[in-house]
Amino acid sequence: MKAKVAINGYGTIGKRVADAVSAQKDMEIVGVTKARPNNESRLAVAKGYKLYAALPEKIPDFKKAGIPVEGSLEDLIGKCDIIIDCAPGKSGVLNKDKYYAPKNKKAIFQGGEKSGTAQASFNAISNYSKSIGKQFVRVVSCNTTGLCRTLHAVEELSPIANARVTLIRRGADPKEIDEGPINAIVPNPVTVPSHHGPDVQTILPHVPITTIAVIVPTTLMHFHSVMVELKNKVTKEQVLEKFERSPRIRLVSADDGITSTAEIMELAKELGRSRSDMPEICVWKESVNMQGNELFYMQAIHQESDVVPENVDCIRAMLGLEKDPMKSIRMTDEAMGLKKWW
Ligand code: NAD
Repeated sequence: MKAKVAINGYGTIGKRVADAVSAQKDMEIVGVTKARPNNESRLAVAKGYKLYAALPEKIPDFKKAGIPVEGSLEDLIGKCDIIIDCAPGKSGVLNKDKYYAPKNKKAIFQGGEKSGTAQASFNAISNYSKSIGKQFVRVVSCNTTGLCRTLHAVEELSPIANARVTLIRRGADPKEIDEGPINAIVPNPVTVPSHHGPDVQTILPHVPITTIAVIVPTTLMHFHSVMVELKNKVTKEQVLEKFERSPRIRLVSADDGITSTAEIMELAKELGRSRSDMPEICVWKESVNMQGNELFYMQAIHQESDVVPENVDCIRAMLGLEKDPMKSIRMTDEAMGLKKWW
């Protein structure tokens, strides 16, 4: 029997997770919620998802807009084995206290929630087994996911003495018209270090890491400049081979015409990816370099999609559907048509 999965918040992340779950053999979507009736609600119904109102008082609004709803979030919770909370940041913890905990329902939260909201933070390749059987788990943010994937791969070659990362963050998602900046570079946070390093340590607690972050006027992807001091001698060829063989990391090359985040997004379109997504972390081949014991590389993160396969694996871990992380990662990646690393 397939695991019954519900999505609370069918927005940027929620709609992608819904499609990724639907593509798996061992799980299905039993319903999704929207806070308000709008075109996304209509499209969810058109795709065949059963729609529920995230806020019960809004049910009449859906009816008035001619969008069929099956009931409220509470009704949906009664029908699922696990709920994926994809509501706006900081709403997840409220939903946990009001709905999931009283009903003793398993729930996955996203990176917009504080780590204390859940019993564990999750990144499939780095710490899958820590979430097996847990009730509340948080899939870390898009930036943290990107850093964990590549730092975990590096760690398999040598223990890390120190990592320093500058994050150049996108100002908004493509659909967000009220966010910025339009013409500025904004230190965010202006304090150093940024919160991203401690967030990586919720997954890789033994990695000393310091991060600095700015926001820039782009909507396509985040960009990381990564410097890692290694304890053992490693060659750049070993690093490149490791990245090549690692799940959800894609080597791209300026030589091959990928000189920018814009060209990565074009590649995703050409690959025929749903919504032009690039869930793999893209590392520029030419940027991978060793100077003494220090490793350098540059990577790009598609913020709207890199956490999506992580949510699928997190479901398998929490429900105990698969104990072996690599088997789950492969199942997810095959179903989503991601890079063939196996
Ligand atoms: P979004 O605004 O695109 O979607 C949120 C959805 O939740 C909307 O469909 C909205 O209708 C619904 N909603 C609003 N209030 C709700 C409530 N009280 N209960 C349930 N649903 C409600 O947001 P998003 O970008 O998908 O972000 C969701 C979570 O994922 C956040 O924690 C965010 O930090 C995290 N995240 C976002 C990105 C990104 O780049 N967009 C990347 C990684 C993680």
